[in-house]
Amino acid sequence: NREIHLASRPQGWPTADNFRLVETEVPTPGPGQIVVRNQFMSVDPYMRGRMNDVKSYVPPFALDEPLDGGAVGEVVAGGADGISVGDTVLHGLGWREYALLDGRSARRVDPDVGPVSAYLSVLGMTGLTAYAGLLDVAAMRPGETVFVSGAAGAVGSMVGQIAKLRGAGRVVGSAGSPAKVARLTELGFDAAFDYHDGPVRDALKAAAPDGVDVYFDNVGGEHLEAAIGAMNLHGRAAICGMIAQYNSAEPPAAPRNLALVIGKRLTLRGFLVGDHGDLREQFVTEVAGWLREGRLSYDETIVDGLDNAPDAFLGLLRGENLGKMLVRL
Ligand code: NDP
Repeated sequence: NREIHLASRPQGWPTADNFRLVETEVPTPGPGQIVVRNQFMSVDPYMRGRMNDVKSYVPPFALDEPLDGGAVGEVVAGGADGISVGDTVLHGLGWREYALLDGRSARRVDPDVGPVSAYLSVLGMTGLTAYAGLLDVAAMRPGETVFVSGAAGAVGSMVGQIAKLRGAGRVVGSAGSPAKVARLTELGFDAAFDYHDGPVRDALKAAAPDGVDVYFDNVGGEHLEAAIGAMNLHGRAAICGMIAQYNSAEPPAAPRNLALVIGKRLTLRGFLVGDHGDLREQFVTEVAGWLREGRLSYDETIVDGLDNAPDAFLGLLRGENLGKMLVRL
């Protein structure tokens, strides 16, 4: 068995030296436990925050211990209520080839519904983040103009498409390369821009001349400031992530135009996908239907091999992924 440990805490941008590949024994299950041979694992921006030794909504990773994160794999030993050898399960102990866990902390998934990787991307936490953030937190209504940053990423690409499918009037996305911008147009975005091309404020004004009703924030910083400036009266922002500052040693100043929230009566609402489990069933039904009908597409960037997982994570922070970043083990 091999696993990836946190060797040291990054200061600013992480590097390969912050990770260590460690060989261990394949674990043996005790009563009620299962051993899962992981097939895919999720690579997520929030992991960067857990590498810092600070109190947050999830505990920090421990030094010289394996990292963790969402994974799917096949049960190869042990058993628990409703789970037996041969089943495919979704669980939280990625970043290792074999995971030992209590059967109750794994959920059986159906490998015949689609590729199992989808349980980490479109049909998993990523998809639910987009669905809950857009429809519940920001309460998007048909006809509205939606702006999403990080739009070619895992969450962002779902936000834009779900907005269109639920009747948004205009959907605008920003992303970090011309190829990503082209992909957004293919996915049905009405307008998209590369945020490297100039001030976000100017690009957003051109792309959404009538203003923005809903902003789905994956990025923070300049994007958030531009969105506040562009938002219409009673606009709502779902604050999902602020990846632009995850590697900053010092947090940036708040948006300089924050006072606009008063006159425009804006709502800026942070959320965590973990609080929206009540929407899961509705989400899976609706999204699986769109997938079946061919009305929703999703991209996955798949990196092979556990030893390449740190590179996958560093690549995610640099924007090397289109859609969901995954490691295949
Ligand atoms: P993505 O697939 O969107 O990958 C991250 C992307 O961020 C990169 O591809 C890169 O794309 C972009 N990026 C990196 N640095 C910057 C920067 N300085 N400015 C603008 N864009 C940047 O990841 P996810 O879809 O998994 O996550 C998206 C966001 O949602 C993150 O902020 C994450 O923390 C958050 N999140 C929050 C959850 C919640 O419960 N609140 C749950 C899941 C995710 P590009 O080439 O366009 O720069």
